[in-house]
Amino acid sequence: MKKILDALQLHADNAGACFGASGWLNNSAGKKIISTNPANEEILATVYAATEQDYEKIMQTATEAFIEWRMRPAPARGEIVRQIGEALRQNKQTLGQLVTLEIGKSLQEGLGEVQEMIDMADFAVGQARMLYGCSMHSERPRHRMYEQWQPLGVVGVISAFNFPVAVWAWNAFIAAICGNTVVWKPSHKTPLTALAVQHICNRVMADNNLKGIFSLFITDETALAEKFVEDTRVALLSFTGSTTIGRRINEKVARRMGKILLELGGNNAIIVDDTADLNLAVPAIVFGATGTAGQRCTTTRRLFVQDTIYAKMIATLTHAYHQITLGDPLDEKNLMGPLIDADAVKQYEKAIAAIRAAGGNILAGGKAVQRPGHFVEPTLVEAENHFAIVQQETFAPILYVIKFKKIEEAIQLQNASLHGLSSALFSNHIRHSELFLSAIGSDCGIANINIGTSGAEIGGAFGGEKQTGGGREAGSDAWKTYMRRQTVTVNWDSQIALAQGIQFSLAHHEP
Ligand code: NAD
Repeated sequence: MKKILDALQLHADNAGACFGASGWLNNSAGKKIISTNPANEEILATVYAATEQDYEKIMQTATEAFIEWRMRPAPARGEIVRQIGEALRQNKQTLGQLVTLEIGKSLQEGLGEVQEMIDMADFAVGQARMLYGCSMHSERPRHRMYEQWQPLGVVGVISAFNFPVAVWAWNAFIAAICGNTVVWKPSHKTPLTALAVQHICNRVMADNNLKGIFSLFITDETALAEKFVEDTRVALLSFTGSTTIGRRINEKVARRMGKILLELGGNNAIIVDDTADLNLAVPAIVFGATGTAGQRCTTTRRLFVQDTIYAKMIATLTHAYHQITLGDPLDEKNLMGPLIDADAVKQYEKAIAAIRAAGGNILAGGKAVQRPGHFVEPTLVEAENHFAIVQQETFAPILYVIKFKKIEEAIQLQNASLHGLSSALFSNHIRHSELFLSAIGSDCGIANINIGTSGAEIGGAFGGEKQTGGGREAGSDAWKTYMRRQTVTVNWDSQIALAQGIQFSLAHHEP
């Protein structure tokens, strides 16, 4: 642990959970937030929580920094993000290990998360030269009309525990190249990885004589988090988290007429028809359902299997589930690590009780594991789509298997969910896959063929419909959310002409 912290130049025992223009605010009067390793419940570090005064300094710095940053040419802003990307490349191994230590995902996934940040930096650097607006032909003679994009101001980022660093990068790098400054409130369950990332940014900002472009405050106080949500200086709030909290935040931001980007919960499904290649489908299902111990927003939670291959699928999956090795996520022979904390284990046990009460048939798993750390068994259940528990997002490795006869029925069952994040079909039947991708197909933000529900690439816009919140982050034209659109009309004629041919003339307008 010490080696990792040293490599990241992070001295956790005296790092304040707040960074602004005057450096780390080591407010030892502040409350302490403890970061623990969910695999063995050992304390990793203690950090001081931000106070209200710290928060005020952070917001002031970010607001002031915006004044100059917005006028720096976008490609020059991209250069700063490029340098952060390079620093992340140099620290990939140690930061990936820290992600694994703090949230318990496998080392491969921890490293993958940092790679996602690096990919995002590369993408943002290119995007900085492509903040394109379009031009239109005016209906009036000698008029020029076009659209341009302007920065918003301070972009607030509230992130969930399960992607403790990648979600910040998705938002922060695009927000920054668009000319905004960024204030981050990470999950209080993952303060250490956030501090490590802020340290990396700090070094790049210092090398470039910059302050306040990227700042951080950590709190476990709802009141301070909500002050941030309600703060009119936050021009765009990007929130990643549960639908329950997202709804509450959405209402608060709407009340102040602020902009919001919501990335909320999912209840993702894979459909497997009887033409599917099971060599592709089975590993994708098992990884989708058990990767990050079922704590991804894109985790596969429901599996619809055609009746003709149902028995075979159940036998194959039951066998596969019994092979999943649980344990220390830093040890690469383990396929699944722990849940984040004791409360997550409680939620898992509550879900298992609800499954039994509803008449679900547990085929594998179903228990918390009696050992240090927050481990539960990967769980496979035969169920019905209409069970209330199946319709909920339980943030744990529970997969519900449901039988169907016709593809139309499977699509309808998949869409019968309050969430609309990720969906997938395994099929070699062209009509089935085209139907799935048509307007009467999947209603989710992500629709995959012969790929599972989890593990999105950054090049596409990421996000989901319905109670997943409707936001889009990362690639494609998601950058537009971080800017304001301005329609410009320039008259270079010697007279004024009104649109729609409206005539308006003053008889005498000279004094
Ligand atoms: P959560 O909703 O409990 O917390 C998310 C963030 O909100 C944390 O930083 C938390 O401290 C903060 N928060 C909590 N209450 C708040 C309040 N009243 N005001 C302001 N901030 C508040 O979620 P979690 O347990 O950290 O993460 C799991 C959830 O996030 C799941 O539902 C998962 O699907 C979702 N998620 C979605 C995506 C996506 O891109 N769609 C990605 C990752 C996670």
